[in-house]
Amino acid sequence: MEELAINGGTPVSSKVLGYGHQDINESDVQAVVDCLRGDYLTCGPATEAFEDSIKEATGAGYVTAVANGTAALHVACLAAGIKPGDEVIVSPITFAASANCVRYCGGTPVFADIDPKTWNIDPASICEKLTDKTKAIVAVDFGGVHVDSSEIRKICDERGLTFIEDAAHAMGTCHNGTAVGSIADMTTFSFHPVKTITTGEGGAVATNDPELGKMIELYAKHGITRDHELMREKDQGGWYYEQLVLGYNYRISDIEASLGVSQMRRLGQFGDRRKQLVAFYNEQFAKIPEVQFQQDATPEDTVRHLYCLKFDTEALGVTRRFIFDALRAENIGVNVHYLPVYLLPYYKDLGHARGDCPNAEDYYDHCVTLPLHCGLTDEDAQCVVDAVAKIVEWCRANRGAE
Ligand SMILES: *Cc1c(COP(=O)(O)O)cnc(C)c1O
Repeated sequence: MEELAINGGTPVSSKVLGYGHQDINESDVQAVVDCLRGDYLTCGPATEAFEDSIKEATGAGYVTAVANGTAALHVACLAAGIKPGDEVIVSPITFAASANCVRYCGGTPVFADIDPKTWNIDPASICEKLTDKTKAIVAVDFGGVHVDSSEIRKICDERGLTFIEDAAHAMGTCHNGTAVGSIADMTTFSFHPVKTITTGEGGAVATNDPELGKMIELYAKHGITRDHELMREKDQGGWYYEQLVLGYNYRISDIEASLGVSQMRRLGQFGDRRKQLVAFYNEQFAKIPEVQFQQDATPEDTVRHLYCLKFDTEALGVTRRFIFDALRAENIGVNVHYLPVYLLPYYKDLGHARGDCPNAEDYYDHCVTLPLHCGLTDEDAQCVVDAVAKIVEWCRANRGAE
């Protein structure tokens, strides 16, 4: 049996394989340079072109590009009219921003549990958490796997709730032939460097509802408009504008948007490579009974951002921390996505505690995120599989010897 790197053996990979990384080529670099040499660093044609490319990819009629994915979620909640006293149902297995956006508006996030197989928010748990105060649902496409939107749509229609899809992980994913971005009432994206396409910092909100589209744009741009349809006074001079609501400066710059336009041209390529890597991992990990991967009924439609494994640490006789440290020692740059949001100290202080969402906690206690990005070669992906297999075999042979 090979010695584990954590016990002094040779690491499976000679270089560190990070869990996520941007893919920037020369045309991306040139696009940014061209912007810097041009007339507009912000509020220019690149931002419009970037929004157009997102409209084209998602089929959404209205897209506003913003400063980051968190700003996108904030303006979506503002456009949904979330205010103090309102409750919004949120998935707990996500980045904190999916719940923070509700708090920014003074609302109360209510966490529904996840499905133990798809790791997405479970519509049955949503139903248990509905009250007269519920105003919206923020559903995350965890890892890029589309959330059960038909059930959520039904719940929202019955109750008059706003369906916000946090698709920070899911640019490029489709469901029944419709692209993510055209499914929920509003869909938010993030273009942080680890996400499928990047602008450095950046985000967007997509909708097919013209009223929501106007409100999103308004809130992202100080609440200020020059749109005659929205303004109260119509026949003022060309300088005139009105501030209608308390908005924010959440604009993206043209420098970032230029990179975004170039990255969106490569979305198809990125999606194909991510699908290949996921198919390879699924095939390999299906042979290891002590690990479970995220279930997805239609992997051919899914552009994954994260690849997480749930380890049966009880059967393996080790802790998740041991597996995490052992994989890191093998030079596999693993991570954990995510700590249930309500177990972060800020949310604990609001009254949340262990026990609120048992499936989410069970998932969190056993999960490890493996590398998934377009910079991984086939050999790198094989190293990831070999490292997992090596550790599992060691555990089988040394049960309880950690
Ligand atoms: C990355 C992420 C965000 C926040 O996006 P930023 O661009 O980093 O602000 C929100 N929700 C989820 C699920 C994310 O993964």
